[in-house]
Amino acid sequence: MSQKACPYYKNGLCVSPKLDKPTDYVTNKSRCLGNYTTCSYFPNENVPKNDNGLTQYNAKEIDKEVSYYPAVNLLDEPIESGCEFFHLIRTSKGLVARCDVQSRVITKSQALLCSKLYNKCPFHLLVKS
Ligand code: SF4
Ligand code: SF4
Repeated sequence: MSQKACPYYKNGLCVSPKLDKPTDYVTNKSRCLGNYTTCSYFPNENVPKNDNGLTQYNAKEIDKEVSYYPAVNLLDEPIESGCEFFHLIRTSKGLVARCDVQSRVITKSQALLCSKLYNKCPFHLLVKS
């Protein structure tokens, strides 16, 4: 009856080994307490655990992996979305949002729509149909 929670969800924080430190920026209750295997922070393979269960993953490395334009992509504050394909990424300049369906960083205005209207999003509906 009750859904299984992600093993990396601790007290509202994500302690995935893919992060450099525990954070609530990437958590989303519907995903972390439900369909967590779809989460990009959930390791697909068994990751050897070190002392704190985390591996090094710093902002500079993230900057190399994601392309974004600060003026249109940087968020003023953390945004939450019920969409399991929505993720926040911390970069050296601040937070940006990423859509896993589109496989790209999305604009600030798109991220606000993901927060308020994700169940009407065509990308979300496409994957869920
Ligand atoms: S579902 Fe993803 S964000 Fe949530 S705790 Fe697990 S790894 Fe972290
Ligand atoms: S654009 Fe749609 S599918 Fe992508 S994260 Fe936002 S709500 Fe989810």
